[in-house]
Amino acid sequence: MTTDPDCIFCKIVAGEIPSDVIHEDKVVTAFRDINPVAPTHILIVPKKHIPDNNAFTDEDEPIAGHMFTIVRDLARQEGIAETGYRLIMNTGEHGHQEVMHMHLHLIGGQSMQHPMG
Ligand code: 5GP
Ligand code: ZN
Repeated sequence: MTTDPDCIFCKIVAGEIPSDVIHEDKVVTAFRDINPVAPTHILIVPKKHIPDNNAFTDEDEPIAGHMFTIVRDLARQEGIAETGYRLIMNTGEHGHQEVMHMHLHLIGGQSMQHPMG
């Protein structure tokens, strides 16, 4: 498994930094964002250190599929599947990505600002 010893999300995945983990399996770890912007704010993080979507390879394709499966299950678990939610993957400078370990934000429990941008 590719990891980066200096990466904060790799440390969370490894259990070296405490976090509110709500799901873990062979492929992903999901935990609550330390600075939530909505009643539900969960980060779905591949265990493999992939810095961003630009570094995502064809071989990584099953990882993305699994991330969406887990989002579906966690949304049901959080009770936001029916009311809806927003899924965000910030990438690069214009996307304001802060942690260079690819992740999805699952945000819900309130109506989101609209339009985006
Ligand atoms: P980005 O801007 O990279 O898409 O989002 C990074 C997210 O990670 C932010 O929402 C931030 O609050 C969250 N975050 C950063 N450090 C930690 C941490 O140590 N623990 C948790 N649970 N979340 C973190
Ligand atoms: Zn990492």
